[in-house]
Amino acid sequence: MALGYRSLSYWHDTVPDPLERRPSLPGDLDVDVAIVGAGYTGLWTAYYLAAADHHLRIAVLEREIAGFGASGRNGGWCSALFPASDHKLTRTAGREAAIAMRRAMHATVDEVGGVVRAEEIDCHWSKGGTVLLARSPLQLRRAEQEVEAARSLGFGSDDLCLLSADEARSMLAATDVVGGTYTPHCAAIHPARLVRGLAAAVERRGVRIFEGTGVDSIAPGVARTANGVVRAAHVVRATEGYSARLQGLRRAIAPVFSLMIATEPLAPEQWEAVGLARRQTFGDYRNVIIYGQRTADDRLAFGGRGAPYHFGSRVLPEFDREPAVFANLRRVLAELFPVLGEVRVTHAWGGPLGIPRDWCASVGIDRATGLAWAGGYVGDGVGTSNLAGRTVADLILGRDSELVRLPWVGHRSPAWEPEPLRWLGMNAALRLAFWGDRVEARTGRPSRAAAALDRFLGR
Ligand SMILES: Cc1cc2nc3c(=O)[nH]c(=O)nc-3n(C[C@H](O)[C@H](O)[C@H](O)COP(=O)(O)OP(=O)(O)OC[C@H]3O[C@@H](n4cnc5c(N)ncnc54)[C@H](O)[C@@H]3O)c2cc1C
Repeated sequence: MALGYRSLSYWHDTVPDPLERRPSLPGDLDVDVAIVGAGYTGLWTAYYLAAADHHLRIAVLEREIAGFGASGRNGGWCSALFPASDHKLTRTAGREAAIAMRRAMHATVDEVGGVVRAEEIDCHWSKGGTVLLARSPLQLRRAEQEVEAARSLGFGSDDLCLLSADEARSMLAATDVVGGTYTPHCAAIHPARLVRGLAAAVERRGVRIFEGTGVDSIAPGVARTANGVVRAAHVVRATEGYSARLQGLRRAIAPVFSLMIATEPLAPEQWEAVGLARRQTFGDYRNVIIYGQRTADDRLAFGGRGAPYHFGSRVLPEFDREPAVFANLRRVLAELFPVLGEVRVTHAWGGPLGIPRDWCASVGIDRATGLAWAGGYVGDGVGTSNLAGRTVADLILGRDSELVRLPWVGHRSPAWEPEPLRWLGMNAALRLAFWGDRVEARTGRPSRAAAALDRFLGR
């Protein structure tokens, strides 16, 4: 095992390759496209560029190893969720643009599935959809509103349907279920297998990946590293939650940690009691997001937000492990599924999400400088990063495709507030979400905290 990467997450622990670092950048280099970051965003961009033009000289520069960041550690929902609501997109870009965005996201799930098959990436792909539970009348109202919003954009029950309590329970037998929603647009995957498989696939297409190569600064035509300077007509920033470390980007994207646990493999009779027969991914309609999947080896991988934001947008390994958040996840799991009360948790980990100030992901290129970027996916980057990679490729190649006309292209999020305001705001929002859930559970009514949270998130 190289440099302890296996202990990063359950997924790294069970990926079948040795996780050894590829060679670092040996010195100065001239290429056509330099991509900073070997997560899904960087690798999808490389993949589609190399597929479109095999003469392009493409280098991916990665501080650690491919899949070190969120791409190797996530919940494994390859979903059609876009990190800005339909309501927000309709408000800011118009109804047709919001519809086009949602359609593009639906198609993205199948695009990823197609590449997974074509490149023979064994990432345990299972397109079982997502079931979101409503566990109180208030949560049911949120589910109904989500379905109403989908209908108002012309999306039917094939895309998102409301479930009765019995229908929801037949998919996932949690406690207190009063209803829910189901969408078929999601696949459960083993995220590290996807990102490692993608790295191998781009190398087969002639892309060079330099690992152990941190980029200190990005400027028009250059990415500077301690090992040498990479000159390129286009430099792509694909550094998501780590972006604040780059010169000049301290306030661009705030890293917030999402944490997960995985249980030991469950017995068939335990799965009989819980459900998820088609490996549907699942969550519910509370304010503090929770998410889960049944893994291919029959564990329950379960995560949630709730870890604090760290002053100055710092990202340190110890922030991946918050005992209080792990304990809370364990408690929520037992609350949802009392039959799993005694089940052993074998892995616990976390990683940084990237949050832009307006909670809206974006992708774009500055034609004058050749600098391109993609990210700000909040917690929905598995599918969205594929759409980003295809879009950045089209932008670099100057293609006038449908993708480059989607409303997130060229969007510029405002900068985060300077510290200590950022720290105060982020952690206050977190508290609001927790209080909101507590008040709602006690009173059954929407809380002011949840309304204030909506305003902070600009939903
Ligand atoms: C616990 C957790 C659960 C999640 N669950 C889901 C989910 O179920 N579904 C979903 O859609 N999304 C989920 N997400 C979010 C999703 O994983 C991310 O949005 C997505 O992986 C982002 O991909 P990326 O390539 O942009 O960033 P990353 O995967 O973070 O990759 C960035 C890479 O850049 C490298 N890097 C950074 N700075 C530099 C530098 N200066 N020089 C060189 N290299 C650098 C990093 O080492 C890293 O490898 C989750 C995230 C976490 C942490």
